[in-house]
Amino acid sequence: MKEVLVLGAGYAGLKAVRNLQKEVGDNAHITLVDMNDYHYEATELHEVAAGSVDKNKITYPIKDVLNNKVKFIQDEVVKVDADKKTVELKNSGQLRYDYCVLALGFVSETFGIKGALDNALQMTDIDQAVAIHEHIVETMKKYRETQDKEYLNIVVCGAGFTGIELAGALVDERPKYAKLAGVDESEISITIVEAATKLLPMFSENLANYGVSLVKSLGVKIMTGCMIKEIQDGRVMYATQDNEELQAVPGKTIIWTTGVSGSPVMGESGFKERRGRVIVNDNLLDPDHDDLYIIGDVSALMDKATDRPYPTTAQIATRMGAYVGHAIAQRLKGEVPEPFSYNSLGTVASVGNTHAFGLVGKKEYKGFPASFVKKMIMNKSLADIGGAKELFAKGRFDLYH
Ligand SMILES: Cc1cc2nc3c(=O)[nH]c(=O)nc-3n(C[C@H](O)[C@H](O)[C@H](O)COP(=O)(O)OP(=O)(O)OC[C@H]3O[C@@H](n4cnc5c(N)ncnc54)[C@H](O)[C@@H]3O)c2cc1C
Repeated sequence: MKEVLVLGAGYAGLKAVRNLQKEVGDNAHITLVDMNDYHYEATELHEVAAGSVDKNKITYPIKDVLNNKVKFIQDEVVKVDADKKTVELKNSGQLRYDYCVLALGFVSETFGIKGALDNALQMTDIDQAVAIHEHIVETMKKYRETQDKEYLNIVVCGAGFTGIELAGALVDERPKYAKLAGVDESEISITIVEAATKLLPMFSENLANYGVSLVKSLGVKIMTGCMIKEIQDGRVMYATQDNEELQAVPGKTIIWTTGVSGSPVMGESGFKERRGRVIVNDNLLDPDHDDLYIIGDVSALMDKATDRPYPTTAQIATRMGAYVGHAIAQRLKGEVPEPFSYNSLGTVASVGNTHAFGLVGKKEYKGFPASFVKKMIMNKSLADIGGAKELFAKGRFDLYH
């Protein structure tokens, strides 16, 4: 009996398991490990953080999508020994494998910036997203008590895809915050601080400009060319190219969205990694271990057309999971899998519930049509990984507004 071990039940790992449980016969055990007993749609964390959706809307029990071929262990992966083919878990000891799928996802990247971990709120899992929303509610109440305007300031660090989506969701919820604070919504300030001067490089200039103008038109202040040097308690400290002296953006809510890296388990396990990511071969295998697949945000797959790694996204993570589930099933039957191939279907960024912009295939979408497309993408992702049950329970069917 062969042992197939999948580590992580995010987009990549859970999709791999779905294919494995469908395709693998009785000649293998499948075990899935995750530290949570639920799967979460990481692409929608910003909505939980802003308070536009409840955490239950973007999570579902992992066991709901497993059949009786899969054993689920809720535990934390501490280390992988790829030479001995073992995995160390925090509470349940050691597991052995014949094939392993490493899919432990992303963590926040602070680039060593002083105070970023202690004084900014991170947004990389459900608990952190819930904590952000609770913090905002608390600061609005504090304003009522103190009348200190800094409680009304929300500062987002980073105007990447995540920062822009978060700002859009915060705008949607601003009336609720204003009510809690007892002020007009124009008094709640949302500021994004960003080092780059050219934003959203994954889109054409036209689309990026549209996105930035849209966010600004909703009352978000975007400060570009501001290099964050330190996060103090209630202060984002930055310098510009023209002025090296530190300046401050005050705010009692500071949210960190400047970047992510792969799981620290990659470094702990001694892989050849950079920022928690391992460059994999065309079959998504660790180049040094023919039985270890590395997929999703812990992997870096080179795009031969650009000679740069593909951006880490839920889209590629899901496709990698599907490929690996099928590839392992093939290898168990003695077949030789084809290499993985990938073409991005496009990217759409939401700006709150009713606006969005993005590219699907060769077509650019803006405004309400883009928002419709984004909800369709999220529904497809739910169906792909959670199946019809999760789609009907948690899908976005408010497609026209
Ligand atoms: C706000 C936001 C918006 C985004 N929007 C988009 C978008 O529109 N489109 C897009 O394609 N991508 C988007 N992304 C990126 C996307 O979410 C990630 O690329 C994707 O989640 C990666 O999937 P994954 O399966 O590799 O990892 P994850 O989704 O991070 O899943 C990892 C899993 O591993 C588990 N885990 C982690 N460490 C351990 C451990 N040590 N032991 C046990 N279990 C562990 C976690 O609990 C989790 O279940 C967005 C990300 C964010 C934060």
